[in-house]
Amino acid sequence: MNIAKNIESVGVSIRNARKSYGAFHALDDVSLEVGAGEFVSLLGPSGSGKTTFLGILGGFVQPTSGSVFLGDRDITYAPPHKRDIGIVFQNYALFPHMSVGENVAFPLRARRLPKSTWPARVRDALSMVQLAGFEDRRITELSGGQRQRVALARAIIFEPRLILMDEPLSALDKQLRENMQIELRHLHQKLRATIIYVTHDQREALTMSDRVAIMNRGKIVQIDTPVRLHDHPTDSFVAGFIGEATLLPVEQAGAEYVKLGSYLLRSAHPVPPGKEIFLAVHAEKLLIADDTDDGFLNRMAGTVTEVLYQGESARVFIQLDDGTRLSLRQPSNHTGLTKIKSVGSRMTIALHPQDTILVPKASY
Ligand code: ATP
Repeated sequence: MNIAKNIESVGVSIRNARKSYGAFHALDDVSLEVGAGEFVSLLGPSGSGKTTFLGILGGFVQPTSGSVFLGDRDITYAPPHKRDIGIVFQNYALFPHMSVGENVAFPLRARRLPKSTWPARVRDALSMVQLAGFEDRRITELSGGQRQRVALARAIIFEPRLILMDEPLSALDKQLRENMQIELRHLHQKLRATIIYVTHDQREALTMSDRVAIMNRGKIVQIDTPVRLHDHPTDSFVAGFIGEATLLPVEQAGAEYVKLGSYLLRSAHPVPPGKEIFLAVHAEKLLIADDTDDGFLNRMAGTVTEVLYQGESARVFIQLDDGTRLSLRQPSNHTGLTKIKSVGSRMTIALHPQDTILVPKASY
């Protein structure tokens, strides 16, 4: 028996799913195609409909309308245990009175698989999550990260073709969380299962996913690869949600140009249509340009108002001469830090046209 070899991943298709509570749409006509073996995250603020979406996939929430397909099988009305879906929740939901082995074997019992097959499967599932030999340990003797891995082993033991995860790492501290993100990625590569992952942590979503669906008010407002979401947000909501972007109102000034206060900036991207346009400036993309006069860059001058040393980087706040406030992030290596001037000093900053990202105002 080998779980990694047996899992045959399958695509998921959600078509026009809606969940209404009275006149309120918790999920509002959402469609999504997830490819076999793909890792897709649902990312959005609290109340945006992520858990409702996952509930419809898992069978815990009945959609008001729309359908769900696993491969070519319509599972819209199938009960949860007949969906062939592994689920991992935020709070693990392990049985504290059972051993690790009994917890992991639970789905096999529920599916009435012959008992003689259990030990080999449990051994396999535990070694997949790097807990080989933990069968007889008690849940109460495990650390948070180990419990999380037991929950994962339990979700993969019956070789589900789709795994749903709802904020599975949110109870862990930062270090453990980052390690588990890497482990989950490796596990995904080994299993090649299709994974749909709910989080409100944008860093986590960008780190782990093949694609990220940004949700707001019951809708998917953009679905894209992490790089494209960061560099090509569709509107001001997505741009404000991803990365540390400052949104500044600009005016169109030609096919490639916008005006930011008194500065004319060139963008390598088309200026979006509409009256309300924002420049989305990511702190890490602003450059300190005191000793270059590269005419290619968009240059702006101002005064340093604050410098915050934050360990791996430093954050420098600048007020431009027209009053606009911006901040940049500078690596905290020796060269990076020596470029930073003290508070009150003049500084020239620059933005590459490729990093001059323009978005229309979100219309929802
Ligand atoms: P969070 O990140 O806080 O978990 P979420 O994005 O998962 O939020 P959902 O739990 O899907 O959001 O909820 C979406 C919306 O639907 C919320 O406004 C919520 O209040 C509403 N909602 C969820 N369940 C019900 C219910 N049973 N009755 C009425 N409204 C509900």
